Amino acid sequence: MILIFLGAPGAGKGTQAQRIMDARGLIQLSTGDMLRDAVAKETPVGLEAKAAMNAGALVSDAIVVKIIEDRIERDDCAGGFILDGFPRTIAQAEALDAMLAARGLKLNAVIEIAVEDDALVKRITGRYTCAACNAGYHDEFKTPKVEGVCDECGGTEFTRRKDDNAETVKSRIATYHEQTAPLLPYYDGRGVLRKVDGMAGFDDVTDQINRVLDAL
Ligand code: AMP
Repeated sequence: MILIFLGAPGAGKGTQAQRIMDARGLIQLSTGDMLRDAVAKETPVGLEAKAAMNAGALVSDAIVVKIIEDRIERDDCAGGFILDGFPRTIAQAEALDAMLAARGLKLNAVIEIAVEDDALVKRITGRYTCAACNAGYHDEFKTPKVEGVCDECGGTEFTRRKDDNAETVKSRIATYHEQTAPLLPYYDGRGVLRKVDGMAGFDDVTDQINRVLDAL
């Protein structure tokens, strides 16, 4: 199964992708994670992507399309995957159509996780992760059971994304509306768009997505 999780930054794409992939044997392909990794390793792609990411703008289509094209060639994608954060422009969506068609693959569904803008800012500026195992937390909505200690691995170091500050978040949301939201009618016109209410709680959103997938 090949899925796209589409939604604004902070809508819950990554969180829900993690939950769905574990249950359905899919893997999560997050271009944001891949780019952050490239930035941390100071690869040529990372050096080129860094300024755009810090400004809340998009990295060039050519870079992200190449990253995804290389990634889906790997064996672990054979059982299906969830695209999280890609495509983000019409040009990327067209490139994805072409790369799937060239491999005889079919996009099963695009899941829109719909969340209001005001809620996005609050969600993003409060989130942080365990530096050791990457488990996600939030200042208000999901704190560790023991303060300062990761529930999953016992780690005591936590990190926040550099672009999760109030200023950059506003740019990222504006970028979403300008460049990524046009993908909704693009996929609706192809009959693959399914919308879930991302304002609901974590478990409820997961249930909604599972119902959509079961009905495919
Ligand atoms: P994310 O982790 O999905 O919120 O992505 C973090 C940042 O990485 C974005 O704000 C962009 O600067 C960049 N990025 C991630 N995916 C893409 C993409 N598909 N196209 C362009 N830029 C991207």
